[in-house]
Amino acid sequence: MTEAALTAAGVDSYLSKEAKQQPQWPDAAALRRTTDRLTQVPPLVFAGEADRLREQLAAASRGEAFVLQGGDCAEIFAEATADRIRNKIKTILQMAVILTYGASTPVVKIGRMAGQYAKPRSADTETIGGVTLPVYRGDIVNSSAFTPESRIPNPERLLDAYHVSASTLNLIRAFTQGGFADLRRVHQWNKGFSANPAYAKYEQFAKEIDRAVRFMAAAGGDFDALKTVELFSSHEALLLDYERALTRIDSRSGLPYDCSAHFLWIGERTRQLDGAHVEFLSKVHNPLAVKLGPTATSGDAIALAERLNPDNIAGRLTFVARMGAGKVRDALPSIVEGVRDAGLAVTWLTDPMHGNTYTSESGYKTRNFDTILDEVTGFFEVHEALGTVPGGLHVELTGDDVTEVIGGTEKIDDEGLARRYETKVDPRLNHQQSLEMAFLVADLLKK
Ligand code: PEP
Ligand code: MN
Repeated sequence: MTEAALTAAGVDSYLSKEAKQQPQWPDAAALRRTTDRLTQVPPLVFAGEADRLREQLAAASRGEAFVLQGGDCAEIFAEATADRIRNKIKTILQMAVILTYGASTPVVKIGRMAGQYAKPRSADTETIGGVTLPVYRGDIVNSSAFTPESRIPNPERLLDAYHVSASTLNLIRAFTQGGFADLRRVHQWNKGFSANPAYAKYEQFAKEIDRAVRFMAAAGGDFDALKTVELFSSHEALLLDYERALTRIDSRSGLPYDCSAHFLWIGERTRQLDGAHVEFLSKVHNPLAVKLGPTATSGDAIALAERLNPDNIAGRLTFVARMGAGKVRDALPSIVEGVRDAGLAVTWLTDPMHGNTYTSESGYKTRNFDTILDEVTGFFEVHEALGTVPGGLHVELTGDDVTEVIGGTEKIDDEGLARRYETKVDPRLNHQQSLEMAFLVADLLKK
């Protein structure tokens, strides 16, 4: 009955379109058993929560809120431990306090968490030491270990992804509702950061925030908003078998929602207008994002908005610009201008990571902290010049002390990358670099 209602709501129309970046499952019957099972499990998120996020994203499109979306490039099942999840949440909350102060508006907090398991890849195979194997496509598909067996797509992993997402979300809900996220406590952590002599340049800023927090407390501000926060989940909706299996009809509205996460995005490699990803996501009512790289045109953006947000509902559609620091000032203005002139309600985020990846001399896939900041600066300049709203920041980060991105006050250099390079796909800002980025972006927001 429910499945029939979903089909009637159009969520299977994507099956007749080309879906890029899907694995070659070796056993269709095994895949079917798993997806059938996933259609029966409880939803990970609820439609009402996704609606609330849509309203907050709408506020960000008007400059009444600022979005912080962050987390791993690829989550790893084995790393979904309490410590690592807590560190990541802590990092996002710490950044959010700094940005709230800088923007003087609420910060909408979204994790690339609890479902970021499927990765688009630029090639189907990789060769190491003369051996060629299928690429790693994320823990939801295969394993990153470089052996023939690990690289075979295994549909059992879809169920694992569901369960690990559920336990991650459980921790997110516990940490954000249970006192851990209290503003005063998060602010204390930030004071520790700026007290470190290496970060002394942020001390003045931290002191200002301190005064503001103390003022609120003195004025009797002991309200719930200080004690709990909302942290939404998001991932790239890449693996359509999984996304479709977790789609449910909302009992209140009768409309389909993809209940694998609150917020879903379409990647740069799968945003074809006539492709299966755009078709599928056009049918679900979650807030959505689309990544736009340097080859995107204003025509592409307008056509995507017409397909994904035909009623022009604010908060429904976010564009995440990932142009590269060297291109953002040239490539982005005409797109933002076209969208503006077409009267489209869109929330603009900057992803300063994906256009700035390169291979270091020491052989690591890396990014440079200054280049990342330069793209964010360029994004703000473009919006300033056009009178449009820079709505938020989308970054790859971890709460751990890894060495994957070059630079920052700790001056991680080419050789330093080897010290603790852990990512299976793209390089992430570490804990300190994330806080530093938040201070620098808050500074841009204050201007
Ligand atoms: C990503 O966000 O990890 C990613 C692959 O991004 P993009 O689609 O922008 O390349
Ligand atoms: Mn990435």
